[in-house]
Amino acid sequence: MAEADAMIAGAQAPARDLMSKFDGLIAERKALLDSGVTDPFAIVMDEVRSPTQAVIKGRETILLGTYNYMGMTFDPDVIAAGKAALDQFGSGTNGSRMLNGTFRDHMAAEQALRDFYGMTGAIVFSTGYQANLGIISTLAGKGDYIILDADSHASIYDGCAMGNAEIVRFRHNSVEDLDKRLGRLPAEPGKLVVLEGVYSMLGDIAPLKEMVAVAKKHGAMVLVDEAHSMGFFGAHGRGVYEDQGLDADVDFIVGTFSKSVGTVGGFCVSNHPKFEAVRLACRPYIFTASLPPSVVATAAMSITKLMHAHDKRQRLWDNARHLHGGLKALGFRLGTETPESAIIAVILPSQEEAVGMWQALLEQGVYVNMARPPATPAGMFLLRCSLCAEHSREQLDRVLGMFAAAGRAVGAIA
Ligand code: PMP
Repeated sequence: MAEADAMIAGAQAPARDLMSKFDGLIAERKALLDSGVTDPFAIVMDEVRSPTQAVIKGRETILLGTYNYMGMTFDPDVIAAGKAALDQFGSGTNGSRMLNGTFRDHMAAEQALRDFYGMTGAIVFSTGYQANLGIISTLAGKGDYIILDADSHASIYDGCAMGNAEIVRFRHNSVEDLDKRLGRLPAEPGKLVVLEGVYSMLGDIAPLKEMVAVAKKHGAMVLVDEAHSMGFFGAHGRGVYEDQGLDADVDFIVGTFSKSVGTVGGFCVSNHPKFEAVRLACRPYIFTASLPPSVVATAAMSITKLMHAHDKRQRLWDNARHLHGGLKALGFRLGTETPESAIIAVILPSQEEAVGMWQALLEQGVYVNMARPPATPAGMFLLRCSLCAEHSREQLDRVLGMFAAAGRAVGAIA
């Protein structure tokens, strides 16, 4: 004991400080903050008053950068369901779904998902990130191929790396490139094509119909991440795949509770007869604690209500069209020519302009997402606006006024 104490006391610094790899990042961040701007990645919501309003730095702020597409976070039935579960089941589960972590409301959330998607199988994970990590790594292992869009979300890439499959990337949204790359692969190995309904950086949607046809032609299975479309694409709000008439043609749908559902959690649904077996082999499902009962109870209630949320779907699309049209008329360069989803990205030429404008907007009272490489494609700097069904026309007109003033101030528009 004394010997160990003496050794620790006399120890030298490590031969190589593993933290030194962050020096570049630390310097870059310092330079940004030294220029006098608010840190866009350190926003604190001091108070949240509704799905579209919060208090940030003491100022009443319109929220235009959350993924609260359907505005379910303050739904009275959703809140009541969470409170009741908290009272009845306590604050947490203290364990994995495989052991003591499956409660009544985990089953209710999975049933709500089966009903919502009209599918036979549903598995709830602790986040959407873990759903992708788990399902992709469990489905495609050593010797299999994963063919994915180059602009895929980080959770998809991480799922690919974890499973050790061969990875083949195709050019973003290019049906032709997908076809070409699938055509070069050997016939025998298992193949999983991974797509997203809505790509969250630019808000563009995938030509799923053509892509699924190509995947099937080459004998591949298809997984679609519908994180940014749940609730408002398609007649039942299932996603872009439903909107494009592919209900019977996709093998796996991944989604999240952190966006339209308004809480936290992730899931995969499927009609595959052997789908339940995933639970027995999936490490990100087994080796982590399950969601608290209050969270799954709110998810179950929210998903059930989203099935019938036709008015909200309508309002969200009206809002997306109004904001897209207004920003375009002001002369901003946008991520898509027409409003394709509830995400509208304003493209700026440099980090300085993006941060300057982001800050000017915040000071006027609207919060949007600042996005930069490596999260963005092609090294772009973006101010991402995500709409909510609960934004009023008056709020959006105020936002357009703020964009006009901020855009002129930084020289982004004439
Ligand atoms: N997939 C996509 C396409 C996403 O954008 C995200 C989160 N932004 C996720 C998965 C992960 O979802 P979660 O927040 O539930 O971890």
